[in-house]
Amino acid sequence: MPQNPLRYIIHADLDAFYAAVEQHDNPELRGQPVMVGGRPDGRGVVATASYEARKFGVHSAMPMATAVRHCPDGIIIRPRFDRYRAVSAQVMAVFRSVTDVIEPQSLDEAYLDITPAAALRAPLAIAIDIKERVAQETGLAISVGLATGKCVAKIASDLQKPDGLVVVPVGAEAEFLAPLPVGKLAGIGPKSAARLHADGVRTIGDLAQMPDDWFDRTFGKRGRSVRDHARGIDDSPVQTTRAAKSISSETTFGADISDAAELRAVVQQLSGKVADALASKDIAGRTVTVKIRLSDYTTFTRQQTLSDTTNDASIIATAAWMLLERELAPQRAFRLLGVGASGFSQPDRAGAKPLDDAPANQTPPAYQLALPVDG
Ligand SMILES: [Mg+2]
Repeated sequence: MPQNPLRYIIHADLDAFYAAVEQHDNPELRGQPVMVGGRPDGRGVVATASYEARKFGVHSAMPMATAVRHCPDGIIIRPRFDRYRAVSAQVMAVFRSVTDVIEPQSLDEAYLDITPAAALRAPLAIAIDIKERVAQETGLAISVGLATGKCVAKIASDLQKPDGLVVVPVGAEAEFLAPLPVGKLAGIGPKSAARLHADGVRTIGDLAQMPDDWFDRTFGKRGRSVRDHARGIDDSPVQTTRAAKSISSETTFGADISDAAELRAVVQQLSGKVADALASKDIAGRTVTVKIRLSDYTTFTRQQTLSDTTNDASIIATAAWMLLERELAPQRAFRLLGVGASGFSQPDRAGAKPLDDAPANQTPPAYQLALPVDG
């Protein structure tokens, strides 16, 4: 067997998921600027904005008070997570009919390794089939990227949203990536992108051409993986539920933040993502972690173990905020914030079996959920 056997990986991502569900369930909302999220008078944030609302500059993670200023006619809808979970289960069932190797990233997004199925049918036919069946069964549009690795598949799924289908031919990965802005690459946040721009590196193609030792100097330990990703090389496996021992979501700020209300809104948003990811895997976590990077790059984590496991966004957010609030200080600015959950079990349910029978001391491959800009 060759060392890097050819794989077909799909990244599938529902478009403006919560807002799309609301518009599907209530026809009066179709074509309207819908903003699903918290109250504008409190510290609520936008969880998902419909494409109509995005035209006004509204995006997920924006404080709802700001969203209302951008889009005064926006229709604010409180999230109905039970409904979103039910729709998610329908979508995941479509995925499972194609392959068992599925790595959900949140309620509306997953990687699928369709290599075995692709031995029998053209990968493109499988991708089209997934889109059609999700539309039939849920009435929702899903964007699909098809490539030989996760990193390229994810970029591809985002490229033609909404209702996109982007196929990156085998061997054309680097060529596909080359014209795209560096910021599209996983792990290149706004700060890194700005630094790269200053060095004249604007596209992923510019980045791919840099010498090997430059990557090590510029990105340290991440150098090799950034280099490989820029060149379209990504052998990382699609990890099914059993592999995950910790779920986290983090975001690097375009400009450092010191304002408590803003930080709190970010904690809410990240906690919602973590809760979604837990729910999509039908698990709950007992330990809540916040990851903090200060403006001087000092990085540390704080964690708290709860009395019970949870996948409730507000409980995770409350615990995370308690941890972060202790770290606030005048003059202290934050560059990056992450929220994570670990110590998993399945939520209590009659007949529920333990999720994971692997030895407890096995080293867990933790993975990151990137905070999607697009919802
Ligand atoms: Mg989505």
